[in-house]
Amino acid sequence: MPDTMTMSHAAARVEALIGQLLGGKMGSYIAGEIIPGTGAALTLTNPADGKALLSFADAGASVVEQAMQAARGGQRAWMAQTAAARGRAMNEIARLVRAHAEALAELEMLSAGKPIRDTRGEVAKVAEMFEYYAGWADKLHGEVIPVPSSHLNYTRPEPLGIVVQITPWNAPIFTAGWQIAPAICAGNAVVLKPSELTPLTSLVLGKLCEMAEDVPNGLVSILAGAGPTTGAAAVAHPDTRLVVFVGSAEAGAQIAAAAARNIVPSVLELGGKSANIVFADADIERALIGAQAAIFGGAGQSCVAGSRLLVDRRIHAQFVERLAAAAAKIPFGLPSDPATQIGPINNRRQFEKIGAMVEAATQSGALLATGGGCPNALQSSGGYFYAPTILADVARDALIAREEVFGPVLAVLPFEDEADAVALANDTPYGLAGAVWTQDPGRAHRVAGAVRAGTFWINGYKTINVASPFGGFGRSGFGRSSGREALSAYTQIKSVWVETAANPAAPFGYVG
Ligand code: NAD
Repeated sequence: MPDTMTMSHAAARVEALIGQLLGGKMGSYIAGEIIPGTGAALTLTNPADGKALLSFADAGASVVEQAMQAARGGQRAWMAQTAAARGRAMNEIARLVRAHAEALAELEMLSAGKPIRDTRGEVAKVAEMFEYYAGWADKLHGEVIPVPSSHLNYTRPEPLGIVVQITPWNAPIFTAGWQIAPAICAGNAVVLKPSELTPLTSLVLGKLCEMAEDVPNGLVSILAGAGPTTGAAAVAHPDTRLVVFVGSAEAGAQIAAAAARNIVPSVLELGGKSANIVFADADIERALIGAQAAIFGGAGQSCVAGSRLLVDRRIHAQFVERLAAAAAKIPFGLPSDPATQIGPINNRRQFEKIGAMVEAATQSGALLATGGGCPNALQSSGGYFYAPTILADVARDALIAREEVFGPVLAVLPFEDEADAVALANDTPYGLAGAVWTQDPGRAHRVAGAVRAGTFWINGYKTINVASPFGGFGRSGFGRSSGREALSAYTQIKSVWVETAANPAAPFGYVG
């Protein structure tokens, strides 16, 4: 912890919230205890002023071992209960999340730098996730297969065992709830490692899960630590049966390879460069608002961000002009202000990466229509504020048109006709999301079918729900999270054969 004499107001609030929610200790949450780390010191920073919030030690391999041991016992005890009891327990987790919602939202706002209006919404969604999967707990059952013999053949969806989940910093508690709920619904234990930059709310969520009556200790453990040390040790652990990774394609490829070495499957939820396509026949007012929500929500630190805006050349100049004027008016500033819609970037590294990508784009000929850098009014804050930025006249092969920025930076590209729009939308190795704005229903469905993306919106952007499957095509990953589909990832199917014939034929062997 920072020295109390020099502690900022935010650091003092974080300390108070940790006192209230985690008993004042910082480390990994394992079976009802906060276990101190054994590795190098890691520091959390307030994105709104760049000052230290607190320091803690990286968990390390021995703490991972403790989590795995607790998970083995937790999973056995969880599966010893009826499916209906597990569903009731998950509803109780949702109730506990709601009961602690305001404290969780504040802790997330302070440590992730997200506007309080966003963190309140995301915490509410976490409760909904547990409620949705609570309903599935006693509805996961197999089938009877009509095999062409005298056998009764049926299937049983069974848990995999211990699932390791690794999550990024952009929506910490939302992502943790999104992955923990289906995993435990299907009967698994979870060992989750949140980003070392934003572990606090995931730690609290792990504790709230186990505060619910009938949730055994060890079912949900949270590791506070870094990726290449603690995360890698959890992925490579011999008891790990599935790895679910949410993060960058680079780390995802390494993690999937490490899991595969132990013949462990993985689900990868990676980044994107999603195309938001506006035709001249669109409802332009709605498309203007949709384009802002697509890229500037979460300050662009969103995997589904509509970071490539493809606009019909006939309306391109006018659309960019109106969008730039609107973007400059979006309430932008301190995350604690309830009016703020765009807060700071989560961390200095990401902030600098965004600046470098915008600079390279303008140097290679893109036109800065608005934004670029930290606005004057926020410069003295010390925070990582990057203004909503629109780059027009972006060349199709420019880096800014092809690579994920993960910040509030929109690349606008004109297109000639429908075929050109689809070809441009698909001209990326990613395939996470996309959208089309048009009042022609035929065109809307043609484009929805033709764009390679795991999620696609018609005349809208960014709605997602725990009931609907989510995941990527191509470089955006594989496997599906949320919806019924997530339960397939979190179960393995056993086929059971029962001989029912009175005198079964013996095709092989003798009675000795
Ligand atoms: P990142 O890949 O750097 O880190 C993600 C997590 O992986 C962190 O917890 C990190 O500690 C861990 N990690 C890193 N290297 C590891 C290793 N070798 N072994 C084990 N763990 C390791 O990503 P980030 O910068 O935290 O997040 C931004 C990225 O996440 C963006 O690319 C974004 O698009 C993506 N993302 C995707 C989704 C989705 O659902 N598709 C959602 C949110 C974010």
